[in-house]
Amino acid sequence: MKHKRKKLMLLLLLLSLWALQREYKFSTKKLQRIYQCWSGNNQPELKLSDWFSPRAPTNVTNNWLAPVVWHGTYKENVLEKYYANHKITVGLTVFAVGRYIDFYLFNFIVSANKYFMVGQKVILYVLTDDFSKVPWIQLSPLWTIKVFEIKREKRWQDVSMMRMKTISEHIVDHIQYEVDFLFCMDVDQVFTQKYGLETLGESVAQLHCYWYNAHSIEVPYERNQSSEAYIPIGKGDFYYHAAVFGGTPIHVLNITKECFKGVMIDKKNNIEAVWHEESHLNKYFFLHKPTKLLSPEYNWDAHAKHTGEIRAKKILWAPKYYNILRATQNI
Ligand code: UDP
Ligand code: MN
Repeated sequence: MKHKRKKLMLLLLLLSLWALQREYKFSTKKLQRIYQCWSGNNQPELKLSDWFSPRAPTNVTNNWLAPVVWHGTYKENVLEKYYANHKITVGLTVFAVGRYIDFYLFNFIVSANKYFMVGQKVILYVLTDDFSKVPWIQLSPLWTIKVFEIKREKRWQDVSMMRMKTISEHIVDHIQYEVDFLFCMDVDQVFTQKYGLETLGESVAQLHCYWYNAHSIEVPYERNQSSEAYIPIGKGDFYYHAAVFGGTPIHVLNITKECFKGVMIDKKNNIEAVWHEESHLNKYFFLHKPTKLLSPEYNWDAHAKHTGEIRAKKILWAPKYYNILRATQNI
C-alpha cells in the first residue's frame, strides 16, 4: 500500500513538472539565470557611484538625475570586472534598404565589429530589402549576425518610420529572448572609438550634436498641436537624435510601439511630424524620461562646431553621399 502511494506521488510529481515545462518552456539560459538568483550571486549590484563621476562641461543636466555619459566620466575597468561576472549579450539593430546597403552597410558593420561592446557577446540584426547585397564580413568570434528581409517602402520617410514597427515585431518574436540590452542605430554612421559598457541602461537616449547646448525653445520639436509628437513651446528637456536609442528589450519595445502608434495616428489625420519618427521619439522621451543620456561625443557630425567639451568622438556621421545623389539626380 505504502509502495503504491509513493509511486502515485512520483507520478503526480512528474506530471506536474511536465505541465510546468509545457506552460513555461524552460530554456537552458533561463534556468541558468534562475539558478544564479537562487544560488545567491554574492557580487553586490553595481552602484552608479562605483563607475561614474559626472562632468558637466555644458548646461546638460537633468532634474530626473539620469547620468549623462561623457568621455572620461566612467571607469571602464570597474564596468568590465562587473560584467565579467554578469554575462550579457547586447543586440544591435540596423536597417539598410535600397542604396543605403551599397553606401553605408559595410563600413557600419566593420567599424561596429571593431569598437562596439568589445569583449561582450553581440548579436547584430541587419534588416534589409536585399539579402544578396549584404556584405560578407569576417566577424569577431563573440559576434553573431542575423539578417532579415523586409519589404521596401517607397518613400524614404516611410523606411525610416516603419523601422519602429519592424523593431517591435522582432523584439516580440525573438530579440527579447536573445539579448539583455538592445541598441537601434542608423546605418549612415561609423564607429571611430570604443563604444562600451558605459552606454548600457534601461532606456538610453542620444543627445543630438546640433542641439545639446540649445535652449528647449530653439530645438526642432513638432509644434503642430494636432500631431501626436507635439511638444509645446517652452516644454521639453533635450533634443534627442533618433540615429541611436536603446535599453532593455522591454523598454525598447515600449519606445518603438509608442512611437509607431504616434506615427499611425498622425497618418490617419494626414499629418507627418517635422522630423518623422525622431519627433515621436522626442515626444516619447519627454513623457518617459530616459534613464541614461549619451553625450554628443557618442554621435558626432564632423561638421558640427564645439568649444572643447568634445574630448572623444565615438561615432561619426558618414558623409551623406546618398542624400547628395538623391538631391541631384532625383532618385
Ligand atoms: N534607411 C534606409 N534606406 C533608405 C532610408 C533610410 O536604409 O532609403 C534607414 C537607414 O538605416 C538610415 C535610417 O533609415 O540610416 C534613417 O534614415 P536617414 O539616415 O536617411 O535619416 P537622417 O539621418 O538623414 O535623419
Ligand atoms: Mn542617418
